[in-house]
Amino acid sequence: MEKFKTTELKKFAKACGADICRIGAMSGFEGAPKQMDPRYIFPDAKSIIGLGFRIPRGYLRGIEEGTFFSVYEFMGYSGMNWRYMPHVLRQIVCYIEDRGYEAVPLPNWDAFAYNKSTDYAAPKDWVKPFHSRPVSPDKPAPDVAVSVRAAAVVSNLGEIGWSKMILTPEFGPFVRCVFILTEAELEYDKPIPPGTLCDRCKLCARMCTGQAIPADRSVKLKINGMEIEHADLDLAKCSNAYSGAVREFNPFWNPDFKMEDNRFMDEYLSKKYYGERRCTDGPCPQIMHVRNNPAIEGGRGCLRACYAHLEAQGKLTHKFYKPFKRHKEWKME
Ligand code: SF4
Repeated sequence: MEKFKTTELKKFAKACGADICRIGAMSGFEGAPKQMDPRYIFPDAKSIIGLGFRIPRGYLRGIEEGTFFSVYEFMGYSGMNWRYMPHVLRQIVCYIEDRGYEAVPLPNWDAFAYNKSTDYAAPKDWVKPFHSRPVSPDKPAPDVAVSVRAAAVVSNLGEIGWSKMILTPEFGPFVRCVFILTEAELEYDKPIPPGTLCDRCKLCARMCTGQAIPADRSVKLKINGMEIEHADLDLAKCSNAYSGAVREFNPFWNPDFKMEDNRFMDEYLSKKYYGERRCTDGPCPQIMHVRNNPAIEGGRGCLRACYAHLEAQGKLTHKFYKPFKRHKEWKME
């Protein structure tokens, strides 16, 4: 069996395409809700490896300009989650297993969503979702849904900002994360304490087009022994805005189509559309009906405003010659 060194694993992870590789101890999940605790997935795991993948700034340039939206949706969101990161994950999992230690990948997508904790708010006409059953009374129901944010804190990848986004010292919120649980005992990185990056400027709250991030309502948690506080994010408002429900920020919205913003997700996730062949009517046919992931809003507050703020303060270690924010924000009538 090949010898196993943490430094070599990190070098390999970066050669495979991960931009950040940091490691933490599984004991950091102490106190996690049973249904979200990865120690039920792999009880012998000792270490969690956090892999951060940058969202290149150029993926969001077209949204900043208001002229080119599809590249973020394809390459910066679903393309990373469903294609690029799983390929890299597999290579690193195999690298670890070639050295005699089992390794479990945690990709960044919804686990099989049958366990109540992963239910989205659904329209009334939906069939009540079936929930999976634990295989024995001592276990959570499958699939255990590990919080990406908690895993990022435990693996020492970054901190949770007020926006509830993971902020990394390298790329701020322009990052997506996946994880590996392994029984190998590795060298652990230092935690990134709350407040290292997020200074509570609340720009994320002010700039969110969906008003999903309250400036004055928060949730407090303890993760990896650290007290963490983030905004009490309104997921329904976030999902609506993320999908293009705020028409002043969605150039693909057909102005002849009348629909209240807060009905947007209900309409488009209803049985009428969901799982059926995409059609071409609706407020923004190109986005909602032809493609899978309508990440059209491009995180105006939580991603773009926050990144610009951290960059302006010189807090990010990955540097550019020119700043990300180059002109006034656009907004349609
Ligand atoms: S915009 Fe400001 S308050 Fe919001 S997460 Fe970023 S640094 Fe924190």
